[in-house]
Amino acid sequence: MLALIALGLGYLFDQVILFLFIFSFLVLAWFTANIIRLHNWLWIRKTLYPPQSKGIWRGIFDGIYRIQKKNRSRRKELGGILKRFRDGAESIPDAVVVMQSHGQIAWSNKLAQHMLGVRWPEDAGVRIDNLIRYPRFTQAFEKNDFDEPLLIPAPNNPNRVIEIRVVPYSYHEYMLLGRDVTQLQQLDQMRKDFIANVSHELRTPLTVLQGYLEMMQDPDMQGFTSPKTLTTMGHQCDRMMNLVNQLLTLSRIEANNDNVYEVKVNVPQMLGMIEKEMEQLNFDRGHQLTFDIDADLVVYGLEDELRSAFTNLIKNAIRYTPDKGEIHVCWQRTSGGAHFLVQDNGEGIAPQHLTRLTERFYRVDKARSRDTGGSGLGLSIVKHVLNHHKSQLIVESQQEQGSCFSFTLPTDMVVK
Ligand code: ADP
Repeated sequence: MLALIALGLGYLFDQVILFLFIFSFLVLAWFTANIIRLHNWLWIRKTLYPPQSKGIWRGIFDGIYRIQKKNRSRRKELGGILKRFRDGAESIPDAVVVMQSHGQIAWSNKLAQHMLGVRWPEDAGVRIDNLIRYPRFTQAFEKNDFDEPLLIPAPNNPNRVIEIRVVPYSYHEYMLLGRDVTQLQQLDQMRKDFIANVSHELRTPLTVLQGYLEMMQDPDMQGFTSPKTLTTMGHQCDRMMNLVNQLLTLSRIEANNDNVYEVKVNVPQMLGMIEKEMEQLNFDRGHQLTFDIDADLVVYGLEDELRSAFTNLIKNAIRYTPDKGEIHVCWQRTSGGAHFLVQDNGEGIAPQHLTRLTERFYRVDKARSRDTGGSGLGLSIVKHVLNHHKSQLIVESQQEQGSCFSFTLPTDMVVK
């Protein structure tokens, strides 16, 4: 339209070229001015809103503005999705490493940095087999064979076991998931050891009984059953019975969730009864047993459990103290609560055994413990009982001098 007007004016004033030149110049100037505004807007001001313009340039500015706006909201949306993904991956209780086709690290969460020693972002692009240098992992990585989870020692702490799984999650992208299974492994090992120990403990007396029974079935031996044979068989049965009883006590205590504050336990009376039982037990050993008991010191607790703990500790003192030894039992109020102590002047325990005494079936001298009728579970039971009663066992001992086993029930468990 403007070109036609310029042409018209050119004809009117007989200056067509001049008018067309002025028109072209003005159009070029307008275009140049708008291109400069566009450039300034996109590269210098970088704002969302476009400069004001007219005509075709308004359409161009508005179009770019709309595309930019759409891109911005898409970017925001994508940023939100990425943040949610990362937050989610951070809250997974596993180590997560996102890898590209050749195992180059694309991203890792904090747990991976802690568990697998990945440094982020320094290790971005580094191949994972450069960080986890463990033959079985490298082999599986090379063959791309991750059907089964792999158990490997943690790269920065060989005492911890990490279960590794690698899952493909999009085209040529993989996610490595690592979980610390040290505790599960230990529990599994404990379960295996426990079954092996119980079987072993039961097999020995059963073998003895089996031997005697076979001997009795032998026609040549008929009528030769001596009282000594029967006594030995009786001892072996007692041993098995003691072991089974201790196992039952231990499993009952482990499963017990009763509230220790609900029942008052008259410990002085209980210790009085235990004293009488122990005197009978000690009858032919000639120990000098002294009980120093605060008759008013009653506590809250679980009666059966406390009886089991006291009995085990006092029986041990009798067992591991040579005949005519001295055993002192004390139950007294202290500033820390109710204090129980059993002291003997027996064989004592070497320092290297002290920390392991409360493990199930741990004995300093296996043969000696079996001879004296021990099951190897006594101190383990004591430990569990004391855990229930907010206390712990303290063992002080010197070889050939004697031992002192003690614990204190806290003041809030003492009945005022
Ligand atoms: P056990 O049934 O073998 O006595 P325990 O768990 O009661 O099992 O004790 C574990 C080990 O601790 C015993 O085998 C023994 O070697 C040692 N022990 C416990 N009490 C004493 C003590 N008073 N004096 C010396 N050694 C002890």
